[in-house]
Amino acid sequence: MNSIGVDVGGTKIAAGVVDADGNVLDEVRYPSAGSPEVLIENIFRAVSEVRGSSEVGGVCLAVPGLILAQENKVVFSPNLPNIEGIPLKDELEARIEAPLTVENDASAAAWGEFRFGAGSGVDHLVFITLGTGVGGGVISHGVLLRGAHGAAGELGHTTIHATGPRCACGNRGCLEALASGSAIARRANEMAAERTDSALGKLAVKRKILGEDVSRLAREGDDAAISVLEEAGTWLGVGVASFVNVFNPEVVAVGGGASEAGELILSATRREVHLRARSPSRDLVRIQSATLGPESGVLGAAALARGGDGEYVLGDGGGDRA
Ligand SMILES: [Zn+2]
Repeated sequence: MNSIGVDVGGTKIAAGVVDADGNVLDEVRYPSAGSPEVLIENIFRAVSEVRGSSEVGGVCLAVPGLILAQENKVVFSPNLPNIEGIPLKDELEARIEAPLTVENDASAAAWGEFRFGAGSGVDHLVFITLGTGVGGGVISHGVLLRGAHGAAGELGHTTIHATGPRCACGNRGCLEALASGSAIARRANEMAAERTDSALGKLAVKRKILGEDVSRLAREGDDAAISVLEEAGTWLGVGVASFVNVFNPEVVAVGGGASEAGELILSATRREVHLRARSPSRDLVRIQSATLGPESGVLGAAALARGGDGEYVLGDGGGDRA
């Protein structure tokens, strides 16, 4: 049966009706800005509009931030603070008239890649998304790792440099503080000041450098921009080496906006993983780009929704099939 995945982001709500094979049959977008009441209303409208008159087996909200799965609420969301503390299931399930579940957005995207993308055909996947922050999700033995409270998989807040730069979470030296799109932009502005003759340096005279500038200039061959991406890729590799040791995944898939730099980042990541991780895990793992792009959240959430074609059901400890 079809199900609905809702990707609730910092600026928009994307709701899609998805069939069992991962085809998005219809999708609508609403803004996520506004008060908690407006946010809830817009989620409800998005779901109602996209559903139309068709029958769906369930709805899953992929939400940014730390969740408490038992209470179906977000407890900490720096990118969407208005969602914090709302009992999402209580507010929406009766009105939607379909089973509703809540999942962390990166974990939902990981599930999307596992079912329909880079993880198709494997049982063990680590997914990392490089955006403004760094999100993550882990699938082990075909089951999404959720932890005691639904907050597992926060790979971006793994400490990889004890005295490194401050992270948005308050810690120092998180993977997010060294390899996210924001970290790449910050480092590029520093590098531009050091290497004023580079294309990066010349652009910085005109305006602040953004993450996408770094990828573009690196592709055009600017050594300074290439160095920034290699540095981020190396830090990513420091983190991934530990994930490879801990989870022994078949595939590590890297998605998100900053991952569009592709091999400019990933070749450094692979090199670092080879230096640091243990054999045989390091020799057998495939480190590659994610394949679904921004649709992974909607696809993964839809596949996780109750009735979504026999998926493991959220909140049931991963052992109960719909
Ligand atoms: Zn952090």
